[in-house]
Amino acid sequence: MKIAFLGLGIMGRPMASKLAAAGHEVSVWNRSARQHVDGATTAVSPADAAKDAEVVWMCVADTAAVERVLFAEDGAEQSLREGMIIADSSTISPSATLRFAERVNARGVHWVDAPVTGSKIGAENGQLIFIVGGSNEAVEALQPLFKAMGKLVIHIGETGKGQAAKISMNLMIALIYEGFAEAWVLSSKLGVDPHKLIELIQASMVRSGVVDYKAPFVLRRDYSPNFPLRLMHKDIHIMLDTAKENRVKLPALETVDEIYELSSEEGWDDLDFAATLGLLEKWAGLGGQSK
Ligand code: NAP
Repeated sequence: MKIAFLGLGIMGRPMASKLAAAGHEVSVWNRSARQHVDGATTAVSPADAAKDAEVVWMCVADTAAVERVLFAEDGAEQSLREGMIIADSSTISPSATLRFAERVNARGVHWVDAPVTGSKIGAENGQLIFIVGGSNEAVEALQPLFKAMGKLVIHIGETGKGQAAKISMNLMIALIYEGFAEAWVLSSKLGVDPHKLIELIQASMVRSGVVDYKAPFVLRRDYSPNFPLRLMHKDIHIMLDTAKENRVKLPALETVDEIYELSSEEGWDDLDFAATLGLLEKWAGLGGQSK
């Protein structure tokens, strides 16, 4: 298929690369440098990338970035034709997704929200899980592309439901990690070896994929970004805004948001979100170095 791929960050670059490696005709665009992807052509604007495409696939930072790549003067909207599909693997606001979808639907273009889970390692290994909202017809048409980049597609429902499920899932990731970090700091203060704590977690009912992924990094104090703190913080704001729009109260998440605010003030935005543990360590007088 002919694909315009917009956004070549931690996730987008390996995703575009997998599409090209699977034999699709890919035209890539990224806002700043780092534009080249082996096997793909490089476009000068989102509109240029989309001009002959059947599918426009986005993986950019946030709601504002999606709005920019689609609807700015040189945005992909300029090149939309009836029957095209826009697939969005960015994690953005569910209500903004509905607004954007409505705007392109008016041009006969389908919208599939397809946020992902699996992080950097999942993207690089082609093992992402796609959390999808859209019509059966559009989702079916994208199957070869999902297959090139991931291991599983969970079709949640109509447009917007992919983002709704994704932010709800990330809410759990933020809270589970915070629980792990608080357990780590309390047990460390009490003199427990973190390796022993992890052995216990993995053997018991509190075992978790979040801990499996993050513990090896935390043990090495390697906070290089797999999922940058600034992006989880952005997701937390989407969750809290969405909760407000829908009259839902999320008290635990409101507290976790404060941890992210303070971590951000520490200058840790571009570290992995695992670095939030450093703040708890600092408060406990345990150092709290990050690198
Ligand atoms: P990233 O490395 O920060 O990349 C962000 C991408 O968005 C870059 O290509 C960036 O361009 C572009 N961008 C940012 N603001 C823009 C704007 N205003 N206009 C146009 N382009 C803009 O982020 P990532 O980790 O790849 O994440 C991408 C999306 O996937 C995010 O929504 C994130 O929440 C979601 N996600 C990430 C992970 C993960 O573990 N990393 C997992 C699941 C979902 P520049 O290169 O010019 O900055």
